[in-house]
Amino acid sequence: MNNYTSDSSDGETGNKAIDLAYLLKNPESVDKLLAQYFENGSKKFLDVENMILHHNELTALPSNLTRFINMRVLDLSNNGLTVLPNIFQYCQLSKLVAKNNRLDNEALPKDFSYCPTLKELNLAGNNLSEFPDQILTFTSLRYLYLGGNGMKNISKEIWRFKQLQVLSLGGNNISDVPVSVGLLKSLQALVLCDNQLESLPASVANLHNLRSLLIHKNRLKTLPPEIIALRNLSELSLRDNPLVVRFVSDIQHQPASLLELSARAIKLHNISAPVGDLPHSLAQYLESAHRCVNPHCKGVYFDNRVEHIKFVDFCGKYRIPLLQYLCSSKCASSPNEEVIKPHRTYLMKKVLLG
Ligand SMILES: [Zn+2]
Repeated sequence: MNNYTSDSSDGETGNKAIDLAYLLKNPESVDKLLAQYFENGSKKFLDVENMILHHNELTALPSNLTRFINMRVLDLSNNGLTVLPNIFQYCQLSKLVAKNNRLDNEALPKDFSYCPTLKELNLAGNNLSEFPDQILTFTSLRYLYLGGNGMKNISKEIWRFKQLQVLSLGGNNISDVPVSVGLLKSLQALVLCDNQLESLPASVANLHNLRSLLIHKNRLKTLPPEIIALRNLSELSLRDNPLVVRFVSDIQHQPASLLELSARAIKLHNISAPVGDLPHSLAQYLESAHRCVNPHCKGVYFDNRVEHIKFVDFCGKYRIPLLQYLCSSKCASSPNEEVIKPHRTYLMKKVLLG
C-alpha cells in the first residue's frame, strides 16, 4: 500500500500531506491554518491525502477538516478529543488514528457511515467501557487497535471483520472471548494480554493464519488443547497467568442423567437407530457425542464430562496445561499417563513465560 508520509522529500507527495503535529494548537487555530487550502478559490485541498494532527490540543475536530474530501489518512492521536464525529460522511479514509484521547462510548456517533476503504482503525488509549458496536460497519478493516481502554466485552459480531489481520485488545477488562473470534480467518495477531480472561474458546484453533497470540497477564488456568493445531503460531506469551493444575478429585462431578447414560450405551454398543425411529431431538442429541480423550477408553460423553488437565510438550522446552474432557473420573487414572508429544514438524520460536 502506498502510504504518503508527512516527512517525504518528494515534492509531489509533499503536497499530499499536511503535517501540523506537535504544535499544541486548538481547533480554532488549526482551522485558520487549513483555510488557506480552499480560500480565494484555491483547489489545493483536493490534493491533500494525509492529515497529521497528533499532539495538539484538539478537544473537538476543526470544522474545516470536513472539506478535505480526498483525505485518506487522518492522525488525531494524543489530543484531548472528547468527541469523534462521523468523519466518514465527508471522505473515504483508509486509516484513522485517534489513540490516546478522551473518547468514551458516548463520544462516538450512533452510526458511522459505511467506509469500504478503511483498513486501519486505532482507538487505543481512550475511555471506551464497551466494545463500540458502530465500528462493525467497517468490514474491510485489516488492523484494529482498541487496547488500553476499559472495555469489558468483545462484540459477538466481531466475525464481520473477515479481513482482519491484527486485533489488539490488550489492557482492557475483558473476561470473555466470544466463540465467533474463531471466524476471523485472516487473523495473524491476537492481542488479549492484561485482561480478566479465565478461559479461551476452543474456536481460537480455527485461526489457521495466527502467528502471534499474546495472552499474558490474565487469569488463565488452562488453554484449550485445540490450539495445538495452530501450525503458524510462532509467538505465545503466557506469563502472569495462574496456569495451575486442578486435580480431577477436586472437581465436583454430578451424576449423569438417564438420557445421557442411555445415549452413552447406544454409542458404546453401536446400537443402530434408523432415521425416523427416533424423535428429531433425540437423534440430534446422539449426534452431539464427544469421544473421551483417554486412548484406552472407547466411551463417549454428552453434557456430563470430567475436566482433566494434560500437560503437553508444546514447544520442546515448556509443558503447557491443556484442558481436556473425559467421560468419567475413572478415565483420569490411566496407567500410561505420559506427556503427549503432538506430531509437529516445527517448534514454536518463542514462548514467553517470564
Ligand atoms: Zn473415558
